[in-house]
Amino acid sequence: MSLVAGNVEALAGLEGLVCDLDGVIYRGPEPIEGSPEAIERLRELGVHVVFCTNNANPTIGRYIEKLGSMGVSVERDDLVTSAVVMAELLAEEGAAGRSAIVVGGEGLREAFDSIDVVVDDDPSSRTADYVVVGFDPDFTYESLKRASFAVQDGARLVAANADASFPAPDGLWPGAGSLVAAIEVASGGRARVMGKPHEAMMRVAARHLGGASKIAIAGDRPNTDLEGGRVMGWATILVLSGVTARAEIDQVEPRPDIVLERLADLPDLLTEV
Ligand SMILES: [Mg+2]
Repeated sequence: MSLVAGNVEALAGLEGLVCDLDGVIYRGPEPIEGSPEAIERLRELGVHVVFCTNNANPTIGRYIEKLGSMGVSVERDDLVTSAVVMAELLAEEGAAGRSAIVVGGEGLREAFDSIDVVVDDDPSSRTADYVVVGFDPDFTYESLKRASFAVQDGARLVAANADASFPAPDGLWPGAGSLVAAIEVASGGRARVMGKPHEAMMRVAARHLGGASKIAIAGDRPNTDLEGGRVMGWATILVLSGVTARAEIDQVEPRPDIVLERLADLPDLLTEV
């Protein structure tokens, strides 16, 4: 039996899966064994899969390329990054034609291009309509100062995610949330957060699933993936191929409906319910 813990009944009638990437489909550059095949089988079983990640740095094209090289074919609409969420939300509130200071990578810039928000890269300009923050390995005191000035001047502060850190081979690296916190402390502003588990991202992911009514989320991180699913009332699947170890599953909050060794175990389970 491939089920580590939980009740398979939670997956009865599953129509849509919101699937995390790092720790579920791949670990860094390496695909996780069986995950690409599992995605194919889920689609054959009629499950609509949308991939959902807090990492706003790579462009959508880069994600399509990376997944494709691992044998997972995806369309643009199948990918919901926190940059995609930000673009959809800001477009809804009429951000076209406005300006933004970006602390972050190419994915955020691409998202702004798509909604006609003008990214202001002039280091001497200290005002903008938005200050947008993602993971930025080139973050400096100067970029902190510039972002802080703009927020003090009334720019709206938006964060791709609030993840404090992320695992790297040599330990935990500071994540976008650490940079957001620095800008909040410096400016006195508070960021609106786009990524999992915040409702903004969960609602956009649901929208990308079209009309699916019975939805599950699969992820390796309780405080983002499981919490996001709980907020939406979806079935929650914890996989042990990422940051959560088997020894920790009794302490995991919120409680997952299902615990699997890896995503590869999911298709067989669905044929049992
Ligand atoms: Mg993950």
